[in-house]
Amino acid sequence: MKQLENLPYAYNALEPYIDEQTMRLHHDKHHQTYFDKFLAAIENYPELKNENVKEILRHLNKIPSEIKTAVVNHGGGYYNHNFFWTILKKDVKFEGEISKEILKKWGSFDKFKEEFKNNALGVFGSGWTWLVLDKNELKIVKTANQDSVISLNMIPLLTIDVWEHAYYLKYQNKRMDYVEAFFNVINWKKVNEYYLEVRKNDKNK
Ligand code: MN
Repeated sequence: MKQLENLPYAYNALEPYIDEQTMRLHHDKHHQTYFDKFLAAIENYPELKNENVKEILRHLNKIPSEIKTAVVNHGGGYYNHNFFWTILKKDVKFEGEISKEILKKWGSFDKFKEEFKNNALGVFGSGWTWLVLDKNELKIVKTANQDSVISLNMIPLLTIDVWEHAYYLKYQNKRMDYVEAFFNVINWKKVNEYYLEVRKNDKNK
């Protein structure tokens, strides 16, 4: 039986910016539930059971209509959180190729941060803010609910979960404080790796 992957670090690894209790609930309850419901949705579809969740989200048009909503919501929730965990780490310097590209596009780190923060604050209700490559262009975009940029043909480089479950225990209604704190736990090394991976694939085309 397939199981949800463990969090790739300790639950308290992001303290004090993201607290241990939030990480426990977020991974062990919320993420676990998306995973379980996703598996339940594709249970009777052998061709989907053998497919990677990323490929499934990339080709939503191939999903039978009776399970499409469940796949978008729970498959999206499963994938988005998998990705989110990987770009979180404390005290990682903003550097590498991606930092140069961000500075080229936004002019300064502060400008980039401002647009990213405003985007995250502008998500109405539940959703995500992303830094993506969209046809080779860096962009900041938002998605509602558990919709994934993967389904929009974009390549995710960085994301923040702005569902209340991601911050409410520690920050209550103060999403701004959570988004500000998030900037202390961005794993720029990983973001840079994702960026270089795309570039490498471009060269091999
Ligand atoms: Mn979440």
